[in-house]
Amino acid sequence: STFTSRNITKAKTTCSYCGVGCGMEVSIDKKGKIELEGIEDHPVNRGMLCSKGRNLNYVVQDQSDRLLHPEMRWSKNHPLQKVDWDTAIDRAAAVFKTFIEKHGPDSVGFYVSGQCLTEEYYLVNKLTKGYIGTNNVDTNSRLCMSSAVMGYVKTLGEDSVPISYEDIEIADTFLIAGANPAWCHPILFRRIEQHKEKNPDTKIIVIDPRVTDSCSLADLHLQLRPGTDITLLQAIGRVLIENGNIDLDFIQNHADGFEAYKGEVFNTTLEDAALICDVPVDDIKLAAQYIGNAKAYLSMWTMGLNQSTQGVNNNLALINLNLITGHIGKPGSGPFSLTGQPNAMGGREVGGMASLLAAHRKQASPEDRQEVADFWGVDSVPDKPGLTATQMFDALDSGELKAIWIICTNPSVSMPDATLVDRAMKKAKFVIVQDISRKSDTVKYADLVLPAAGWLEKEGTMTNSERRISYLPKMVDAPGEALPDNEILLRFAKKMGYKGFDFENTEVIYREHCALTKGTNIDISGLNYDRLKKEGSVQWPVPSEGHQGTPRLFEDKQFYTPNKKAQILTTGVSNDADMLSEDFPLILTTGRIRDQWHTMTRTGKVSKLNKHIAKPYLEIHPKDAEKRDITEGTPVVVTGSRGEVKVTATLTEKIKRGVVFLPMHWGKILNSDFGRANNLTNKAFDPISKQPGFKYSAVQVEKFVKE
Ligand code: SF4
Repeated sequence: STFTSRNITKAKTTCSYCGVGCGMEVSIDKKGKIELEGIEDHPVNRGMLCSKGRNLNYVVQDQSDRLLHPEMRWSKNHPLQKVDWDTAIDRAAAVFKTFIEKHGPDSVGFYVSGQCLTEEYYLVNKLTKGYIGTNNVDTNSRLCMSSAVMGYVKTLGEDSVPISYEDIEIADTFLIAGANPAWCHPILFRRIEQHKEKNPDTKIIVIDPRVTDSCSLADLHLQLRPGTDITLLQAIGRVLIENGNIDLDFIQNHADGFEAYKGEVFNTTLEDAALICDVPVDDIKLAAQYIGNAKAYLSMWTMGLNQSTQGVNNNLALINLNLITGHIGKPGSGPFSLTGQPNAMGGREVGGMASLLAAHRKQASPEDRQEVADFWGVDSVPDKPGLTATQMFDALDSGELKAIWIICTNPSVSMPDATLVDRAMKKAKFVIVQDISRKSDTVKYADLVLPAAGWLEKEGTMTNSERRISYLPKMVDAPGEALPDNEILLRFAKKMGYKGFDFENTEVIYREHCALTKGTNIDISGLNYDRLKKEGSVQWPVPSEGHQGTPRLFEDKQFYTPNKKAQILTTGVSNDADMLSEDFPLILTTGRIRDQWHTMTRTGKVSKLNKHIAKPYLEIHPKDAEKRDITEGTPVVVTGSRGEVKVTATLTEKIKRGVVFLPMHWGKILNSDFGRANNLTNKAFDPISKQPGFKYSAVQVEKFVKE
C-alpha cells in the first residue's frame, strides 16, 4: 500500500483521532514534508476530512514536544534522567517481578488507550491476562464506551454494533441522543447533513441539554434536564405503544420482555415525564410520531448517555425503542453507538478491558477462559475481574495497587476527580508512562518514561465505529530513540522470561489475534495484512478468506443471546450521581469542542486549531449568571465538593437554566489558569459498566475575586 516515486512516498492510512475512521492518503516528499488528503472513494469519508484530521500532518512534523529517549528516576526524590533502553526495560521488569512475587499479580496493572493499535492491545492483554496472571488491564475506553458495550451485551447478546455507515443514506428518521456529532464526529454529521439536503423529509430528533451545533439539522430538539434520559426515552416508548406504532411480529417472534417493558413505561404518565425531563408533552408526542412513521429509524448516541451512573440503563432505554419498533437488522435501521476513539472497537475485539476476554468470550465462563489459556499455551486466565479505570487509581491511592503502566493516555487530565488521580499517582510505588508527548500532564508522575512512536511511525490495524478494520502503514521513522509500543512490550515480555512473545513483526501478532477469533461471532480469521492493504478496509465478521465482510448484523433476526431473541429490558429509574444542594445547586456537564482532541497533546500543537476556541470557558445561562452578577467574560470560580476550576464565563441561552458546561480538554500544562474540568467531576460509576458519570456533577459558580 506504500509506493515511492522518484521524489515522493505515498500511502493510504486512517485518521488517528475519532472513531469515524476517515481514510487519508499521505504523501511525504524527499525533504520530509508531509501532506494529506481524504481518499475520494473511501467508504467512510468520500474524500472529506474534518478540521482535526486535515491538520494531522502538522502534528507529526512538529516534534518539539516529543519524548526522545527513556528517562528514569533512581528513587522517588530524584529527577528524571536519561537512560538507555536496556536500563529502562531492566528496571520495569525488576520492579514488576518484585511486586508480583511479594504481593501477587494483582498488585500491578496496565492502563491503556482506545488510541492503541489492535496489535498493541492484543499484546498487553496476552501479557497481563495470560502471563502476569491478573485482569488488571483497563483502558480509557472505560470512560467512553463501556456502557454501550454492556447495553449491546444485554440486549443483543454481544457487544455488536449492528449497523453500517451506509445506513445513514437509507434512514429517514434519526435520533441523536447525548451526542454532538457536528463537533465530535464531523464527517458522519456531514453525511447526515448531505442526506437531509437531498431528502428534506428526513426527520432528525436531537436530545441534549444544550443547543449544540448538531441542532442545526434538528426538526425537533428535546432539551432535557441532565440525568433524565431514561424517563424521556420511556415516555416516547409509551406513546409509540399507545399509538400502535410498534412491530408486533418482531416483538412476538424475535424479542423477549415486551410485556414487562410496557408495564414499566405505563407507570409514568406523559405529563409526569414531561415535568421530570422539563420537556413539553407535545414534543414527546412529536418525537414518537416521527419514530412511529419511520420506514428506517437510526438511533445514535455517545457520551451523553454512556458517561452516567445509569449509563447501561440509558443504553437499554434507547435500544428498546429500536426493538419495539423492529428497527434493527434492516437497511437504514438500528441502534448505532458513536465510538469516541479511533480504535476503541479494536480494543473491544481483543478483550482489552478488565472485565472482558478475547473475541467477545465471557470472562465469567470457565470454558471460555480455558480456551484462551490453551490458545496462549498457559495454564489459566484469571477469573477475578480486574480493576477498572477509576478503581485502578483508587487502588493506587489505597496502596493495594503498587505499580501502574500507563500507555498512550493522560489520566491526570482525563479521569474524573482528577485531584485524587494526581494524589494516587504521587502515592504509587511505581508509575511507568509510555507516551509520545511530554505535554501529557501525567509524565511528571512517572518513575520511568518510555518514548513511543506515533501515527505514521509504526504499523498496525484499527477498527472504526461500524466494525471497519483498516491497516495503517509505517511511513516515517520515530524521532530520537522512540519505539513502537509493540516493540516496547515485547522487550519487556522477554525480559520477564515469558515464552509466548517471539513475534518477528507486527503482522505475526495480527495473525495470532485473527486466529483467536476463529469460531466466534467476531470471526476475522479470513483477514490478513495483504488483504487489508489490497482492499483498504473490511467490516467484521470476516470468517474466511473469500468472505467480503459484513456491513450489517442481524439481518436474519438471529441475535447472539442463548434463545436468539433480542431482549427488551426494564431499567428502573435511578439517578445516584451527585446530589444538588444549597451549596452546589448547579449541574455541571462536560464535553468537547470542535477543534481539540482529548487532552490536547496533539491538537494543541496546531495554531490553526487553537484559534477556534483558545481558552477554557464556562457556559452559563444568562439568568443564572445575572443572579451571580456575572457578565460575559467575567472570571469565575466553579466549585464542587472535589475541587475548583477558574475560567471565564460565556453567557448563552443555548444551555439550560440550572446547567453549566465546561470543555474537558485543558489540563495544567496547557492552561495555567487551572481550567481542568475534571477537578469537579465525580468518579461514581455505573454499577454494571463501571463507566463514570462525567455528565452530572453538583457545582456552584461565583465571580472570581483576586485576594
Ligand atoms: Fe479524523 Fe474523525 Fe475528523 Fe474523520 S471525523 S477526519 S476520523 S477526526
